[in-house]
Amino acid sequence: MKPKVTIVDTTLRDGEQTAGVVFANKEKIRIAKYLDELGVHQIEAGIPVMGGDEKEVIQEIVQSGLKASIMGWNRAVIADVKQSLECGVDAVAISISTSDIHIKYKLKSTREEVLDKMVRAAEFAKSHNVYVSVNAEDASRSDMDFLIQFAKAAKKAGADRLRFCDTVGMLTPFTTYEKIKRIVEEVGIDIEMHMHNDFGLATANTLAGIKAGATHAGVTVLGLGERAGNAALEEVVMALKYLEGIDLNFKTDIFREVSEYVAQAAGRQLPSWKAIVGTNMFAHESGIHADGVLKNPVAYEAFTPEEVGLTRQIIIGKHSGTSAIKSKFAEYGIVISDEEAKDLLPRVRAAAVELKRSLFDKELVFIYEKYKKEKSA
Ligand code: MN
Repeated sequence: MKPKVTIVDTTLRDGEQTAGVVFANKEKIRIAKYLDELGVHQIEAGIPVMGGDEKEVIQEIVQSGLKASIMGWNRAVIADVKQSLECGVDAVAISISTSDIHIKYKLKSTREEVLDKMVRAAEFAKSHNVYVSVNAEDASRSDMDFLIQFAKAAKKAGADRLRFCDTVGMLTPFTTYEKIKRIVEEVGIDIEMHMHNDFGLATANTLAGIKAGATHAGVTVLGLGERAGNAALEEVVMALKYLEGIDLNFKTDIFREVSEYVAQAAGRQLPSWKAIVGTNMFAHESGIHADGVLKNPVAYEAFTPEEVGLTRQIIIGKHSGTSAIKSKFAEYGIVISDEEAKDLLPRVRAAAVELKRSLFDKELVFIYEKYKKEKSA
């Protein structure tokens, strides 16, 4: 049996941490409900030690009766963890850097001190019976021997999993696989992949980690997150299902709706070419593709549009062929002959080039009417 993967969504923490993004309290609650409805197993709801609205809204999410586990994010500081516990979360993330770059330049500390702080915070959290993820920030640039030592110490302190952070997005699927495999073999602890997308590899690296034995995938809606973002929830869930045969039984038909909501709340565009949920996923213009899809969608679609809440569109434009033109008229109950379609094709192309875009249905009808008039003249 294939292992089930646990999905940890951090749209409300890492997603909101993105430069220029702030969610209103009611938006955070709506997003948490959407994530729960989708089937997300654990929601990282925010950073309790920030206090104020942040802490209040986390408490509200905890009290809203969701099925998902609710996690609070903390530095490896007992006072931070206390704030999380006050919110009533059932899970805490305890974060500290493990790379020498971060230890030396950011923390101005030592490996020994890092281990000590992490162990004390993890033991404190465990003594309050919450689920503990120990986060190795900048794990991907850490000395592997030290990272192994860190993971072993976390496990001994009672941590339930290690969050492996590719903080600067520097991994490839090949290096990811090797590093994760080594931790799995030498430490034997659950591992969450927390991958950033600086080189466009966040989803690929997440899958590589899972292949190597990681048990959890850390994601955000639309990949919202610092700089180029994180691995995208919708990409990881659909790739697991269709490329790896791991069906998590998510309510994927609301992916588009949830994505639109998060994009709007974040003040971000939802590009038409966004993988999985962009409107262009099921838009076909080129003659060969449209003809293929009209015969059987499986020819040019990886899954059905309904599955993610989108609709199929046949676009009439410069690259259209006769079968698409015929089918577009058929949508309006107008049957046109092969010969008419052939005659219309150069007119459609000329119009599309002139306008530098595809045509609206009305424009197509206008071209058709003009053609009929000329023919009968
Ligand atoms: Mn991050």
